[in-house]
Amino acid sequence: MERPPIIISNTLLFALTGLTALIAVPWYGLTHGFDSWQWASFLVLFCYCGISITAGYHRLWSHKTYKAHPALQWLFAIGGALALQNSALHWSSDHRRHHRNVDDDHQDPYSASRGFWYSHIGWMLREYQGDRYHDYSNVRDLQNNPVVAWQHKHYLALTLATNICIPLLLGLIHGDLLGMLLLAGVLRMVMTHHTTFFINSLAHIWGSQPFTDRNSARDNGILAFFTFGEGYHNYHHLFENDYRNGIHWWQFDPTKWLIRCSAWLGLARDLRTCPEERIEQARLQMQLKRAHAKLQKRDDMEMWQTLLQEEYDKLSQQLQHYYASRKRLLEERKRKALARYDALKLQLEYRSLKGGFRVSRRNWNRLLANLA
Ligand SMILES: [Zn+2]
Ligand SMILES: [Zn+2]
Repeated sequence: MERPPIIISNTLLFALTGLTALIAVPWYGLTHGFDSWQWASFLVLFCYCGISITAGYHRLWSHKTYKAHPALQWLFAIGGALALQNSALHWSSDHRRHHRNVDDDHQDPYSASRGFWYSHIGWMLREYQGDRYHDYSNVRDLQNNPVVAWQHKHYLALTLATNICIPLLLGLIHGDLLGMLLLAGVLRMVMTHHTTFFINSLAHIWGSQPFTDRNSARDNGILAFFTFGEGYHNYHHLFENDYRNGIHWWQFDPTKWLIRCSAWLGLARDLRTCPEERIEQARLQMQLKRAHAKLQKRDDMEMWQTLLQEEYDKLSQQLQHYYASRKRLLEERKRKALARYDALKLQLEYRSLKGGFRVSRRNWNRLLANLA
């Protein structure tokens, strides 16, 4: 099949900035050196671009996982233009299509099933999207958002102004103009590009699948470190409406921390999370599925199948009871309408269900360990 024509502007942009970052930046570093102010400017701008994409383009606009104050939206709109990844409207349209049709060779704009190169950058180098490129029917809500609409309308001017003026101004203040343009301009842009692109490529190839294997998305703590928390992509593809990607407190997800801090400051509200019981249930289902796959060709397969199913059913039921009781307890605490006797009874019931669930989960983990 004949391949669609090359998009010259994109190809030139990625090639020239990539080559400059690979050749000119190390050459300048070796011959002239970069000082800590230049590295600090690089880092600050890299974080600003990255967070604008993850907290703005991705979790706010593509998935609407929280609501943001206009001040924060403006900040993300400018940072997104500086990141040079198209307008928030276009980016979100592509991304919603990706979630809806994940791994579909024709409908997913950066389908991982077409290989690493295609999902990483290849999809932007040729006119693969055809007429779909201008189809914004899946982002009508965003077209009504004044910040997104304004950024889309003035995207080219904004992206040129931010990418030229900010490094230029920093260079003039600092004194070493070329060094600043190379580090805070080019290297920062290339790093922002490829760390975001890794989510479309590597995060669909490398890592674990604790929540679902119905698509190629993976959880990867190393990728999360370089992508402001977006590496927990397996969780994200199943629970895309959650403002977190790393759900545990110890998982590196600075985007989640920023959104939460913004909420404390009154700049964000209505943070959406997925109910814990659904997350636990998904994890259990995957564990059961993996255990069944391990049993294939074993002589004692039937015995194990029965045992696993029994334990799984028991644990699932306890999980539901435990979380239902917790929900009831929290609701009653909020209402403060229960008599002291009833409140105590509810609390005791909750504690006993919690204990039972924990014991069953330990047994389940032991059973899985024995199987391994
Ligand atoms: Zn997403
Ligand atoms: Zn994905």
